[in-house]
Amino acid sequence: MPSDNCPRCGEPLAAQTVRTAIWQGERLAVVEDIPAFVCSGCLEQFYDDDVSDALRRLTEHGFPGDDALREIAVPVFSLDGRVRRRAAAEDADVDVV
Ligand SMILES: [Zn+2]
Repeated sequence: MPSDNCPRCGEPLAAQTVRTAIWQGERLAVVEDIPAFVCSGCLEQFYDDDVSDALRRLTEHGFPGDDALREIAVPVFSLDGRVRRRAAAEDADVDVV
């Protein structure tokens, strides 16, 4: 990252090691030990080109299981029943954009 400030909001960037989760279809992969620059204002993360390339290669190769460091069980939650249903059949006269 050539700049010390966030290109989006202008706040300072700090070098940090982060992790991210990437969905590929129905499959979820977690990538750790990512060197990143994190904005102290908007929390956006920025990667150097070699980091972006490494992430893209992993994605293109479909996150081969043999390369995985380890596996974790991930709890899955649903908002069904926790929020008001939208666009139900009886609300068909309401415009849904
Ligand atoms: Zn920012």
